[in-house]
Amino acid sequence: MRPAVFLDRDGTLIPDEGYLADASRVRLIPGAAPALRALAASGKLLVVVSNQSGVARGLIKPEEVAAVHARVVELLAAEGVHLDAAYHCEHGPDDGCACRKPRPGMLLRAAAEHHIDLPRSLMVGDKPSDVAAGEAAGCKAVLFTGDWARVLASLQEPWAC
Ligand SMILES: [Mg+2]
Ligand SMILES: [Zn+2]
Repeated sequence: MRPAVFLDRDGTLIPDEGYLADASRVRLIPGAAPALRALAASGKLLVVVSNQSGVARGLIKPEEVAAVHARVVELLAAEGVHLDAAYHCEHGPDDGCACRKPRPGMLLRAAAEHHIDLPRSLMVGDKPSDVAAGEAAGCKAVLFTGDWARVLASLQEPWAC
């Protein structure tokens, strides 16, 4: 069993532009790639868990979600970062699915599929629903406020995995 860092996408890895459909607009938030490199080097799996309710709302197509994700993968790879897995929830808030954050479904599925040690894992995201999903899955959680160096520093705290 390995620890993971669960990563929100919009507002955490890339700027949150609201239902981003155009892959050519994707750029990385400064500091994200070096932070992910450091986390991977410390033995953590990197797993994206992203709410994409724009699909349920009819604002974006599943292919566009896939294309944006592919561009994120490409940009991270160019910085030497390899994502181990990625999960997207395309449901809306009223669909009652188990995967939309703040529910922990995506994290639990990732844990089962990738033998992840949840108590030693961390969720990083820019919304309270990210923190709630991480805690519901039994992980530690950090609210991302725009500074990846601060996320890494918080891992030096006594509870760090
Ligand atoms: Mg976000
Ligand atoms: Zn869902």
